[in-house]
Amino acid sequence: MAGYLRETDFVMVEEGFSTRDLLEELTLGASQATAEEVAALFVADLGAVVRKHFCFLKCLPRVRSFYAVKCNSSPGVLKVLAELGLGFSCANKAEMELVQDIGVPASKIIYANPCKQIAHIKYAAKHGVRLLSFDNEMELAKVVKSHPSAKMVLCIATEDSHSLSRLSLKFGASLKSCRHLLENAKRDHVEVIGVSFHIGSGCPDPQAYAQSIADARVVFEMGAELGHRMHILDLGGGFPGVEDAKVRFEEIASVINSALDLYFPEGCGVDILAKLGRYYVTSAFTLAISIIAKKEVLLDQPGREEETGSSPKSIVYHLSEGVYGVFSSVLFDSTCPAPILQKKPPTEQPLYSSSLWGPVANGCDCVAEGLWLPQLHVGDWLVFENMGAYTVGMGSPLRDAQTCRITYAMSRVAWPLPLLFPLPKLHFFQLFRADSFPS
Ligand code: PLP
Repeated sequence: MAGYLRETDFVMVEEGFSTRDLLEELTLGASQATAEEVAALFVADLGAVVRKHFCFLKCLPRVRSFYAVKCNSSPGVLKVLAELGLGFSCANKAEMELVQDIGVPASKIIYANPCKQIAHIKYAAKHGVRLLSFDNEMELAKVVKSHPSAKMVLCIATEDSHSLSRLSLKFGASLKSCRHLLENAKRDHVEVIGVSFHIGSGCPDPQAYAQSIADARVVFEMGAELGHRMHILDLGGGFPGVEDAKVRFEEIASVINSALDLYFPEGCGVDILAKLGRYYVTSAFTLAISIIAKKEVLLDQPGREEETGSSPKSIVYHLSEGVYGVFSSVLFDSTCPAPILQKKPPTEQPLYSSSLWGPVANGCDCVAEGLWLPQLHVGDWLVFENMGAYTVGMGSPLRDAQTCRITYAMSRVAWPLPLLFPLPKLHFFQLFRADSFPS
């Protein structure tokens, strides 16, 4: 075993355990003081992350997997993925430091942010991270000055107008500008060794991958004409993290495999990689969060009181985390988190129109509205599933969720990992070829 993940990093659980059971134990065992101090309790099923990797290897056998650290940089996730042999895609210095701190070698790290801070480029140069991405001339100039031995991947824009979360609004060179960028790179003696793209997250049409793979082929031809030795194709992320996604991972994989066979057939000398985030972690994390305050609002509906014997009301619940913390997906991915109640209410209990709000004192911190819930109380725990992506660590883009406690669990049958993944499979391909480096 590579030794990134140790048995002391997680709770070993028997086959068939459910994260909900473990969470129930933790919330029942949580003292009043814990509930007051800890904003959120997560249970992370590392076995679920392992299973995702199995599925990845089966469905995309030609593609090497990198993990997008920004998605969830919690230590258990980074360690289990490092143990499985993944590489890491980092967006800044802090992420590079984090993965290097757990022992990941620089050769397994891509600094995949097309627009970088100079100090962070210098950090990459000093710490041996040599594969960087770019999408404009200014960026090339910065790299020439601060990291002359870098190898570059040209990030191209995609048609992502139907994706829930678009990335090409911000990143990616148009096909029209690629020749010019490749010429500039040649002039400045910068080696461009590959092409990357990201079709956005929540893309409803897997053909978007096929189109971008075809576009990448065009850029490879341009690069070859100009004398760049390109051998990396990076398919980006955007793969779904939940089982009931509109488009299933297997369906996307099949479209990708056909497009690769057409444009980058086996033996063509191009290494294919992808940088997945939500795919690995979304469904592995379950969250419990307690109600910190509540307010009943009487609804002004003449006549209802006589009909029902009680005043119609809605209930506003306040939680210790909101859209500026672990529920940021409400803002970024337009999700509607639906809580599961720890204790099942009796069926005859009346339901009230309810809303959930975060702790920030503004009207935007609304987690969910229009829910029909039984009467709940301050101190009750609400459970949310599929909470692994862009929620904790640096994955929480609006603030570092310091007060979140994560308990990692691993099923006994999944440990130790090499029993499932024989060692040769853990070996990592060479990102750089000997011929990439002038002697
Ligand atoms: N690669 C890059 C360059 C990204 O910016 C992101 C997310 O923003 C990812 C990969 C991961 O995306 P996802 O979580 O949708 O897989």
